Amino acid sequence: MLQQTQVKTVIPYWERWMTELPDIKALAQAPLVKILKLWEGLGYYSRARNAQAAAKLIVEKHDGVFPHNFQDVLNLPGIGRYTAGAICSIAFNMPTPILDGNVTRVLSRCFGIAGNVKEKATNAQLWNLAQELVKRAESLPDLRLAGISDCALQIAENFSYDRTSFAQHTGKSTSLSGNCSALNQSLMELGALVCMPHQPDCSSCPLNPYCIAHQTNRVDNFPHTAPRPQTVQRRFIAFIVEREQKFLVQQRPAGVVNGGFWEFPNIEVDLQTTNLDSASKPFQILGSKPLCKIRHSIMHYRIQLEVYRADTSKNGTWKSLSQLQALPMTAAHQKILKHLV
Ligand code: SF4
Repeated sequence: MLQQTQVKTVIPYWERWMTELPDIKALAQAPLVKILKLWEGLGYYSRARNAQAAAKLIVEKHDGVFPHNFQDVLNLPGIGRYTAGAICSIAFNMPTPILDGNVTRVLSRCFGIAGNVKEKATNAQLWNLAQELVKRAESLPDLRLAGISDCALQIAENFSYDRTSFAQHTGKSTSLSGNCSALNQSLMELGALVCMPHQPDCSSCPLNPYCIAHQTNRVDNFPHTAPRPQTVQRRFIAFIVEREQKFLVQQRPAGVVNGGFWEFPNIEVDLQTTNLDSASKPFQILGSKPLCKIRHSIMHYRIQLEVYRADTSKNGTWKSLSQLQALPMTAAHQKILKHLV
């Protein structure tokens, strides 16, 4: 749930999820519709499907016990190198590195890594650095770190990386202490709360005596990234066809974006189209004004969804409002539903 999503957003979802699906077996056996409903509104729905696929694999291959071996964790659906590293270091205190956006920012600034962090060679350099740091942490005494600032302080007091440039710059030769779990959490939290993308709080950062970017007044130069893809505008028309208090809906097929979710029938139209009647066939739009317009974003797409009441000779699945409320729908179509209640 926390991939690409903030903790405060996740908390209510997590609590509902754990009430409904309290263990791996319950998740493995749950109907997909229930899982999607619990995830509704959280986005990136492949995570929910992967979580269930992983639970099934754990039940089948690991007797229902979450594996404690890095390679087995990495083999679970939906878990890549970063997530496997985070699980194994944070939960099991193993010396596995992590490299997300926050850690990349901290390391590239602190060690003055100038290459484009999206490029293979620089990315490999950052992974190697993260690996070296956590390996050093492993051999040192276990630390019980009370909170974020303490974690950051531990890094500050003990952070060292004996690359020539860093040693020359800082003149420090202390060794890193702390355990793997504390180190990785500290790096993540420092990136999230202190070393932010814009206007990092260098004056209160415990790493500032050692940070190459800060010491050389080049914080804005790190991390070096490729320009973001340009945003693309898209326009969709959704049709609300109602008969005897039931609405025509469709389920998105498996394997496409938001597969398994329910939605009102809709089409994509050209941004400039003014003749909606011909673009809308076999739907006939009723009235000239939309019921509502919904704007939302998916990745670099900025989407406008215009919603019209309509009629059609097309047949399909008809659901009442209460039936629709019990089905998983994407956030945009949930908003349409609220206009109908
Ligand atoms: S000193 Fe500034 S740039 Fe360097 S790690 Fe701390 S917050 Fe980031």
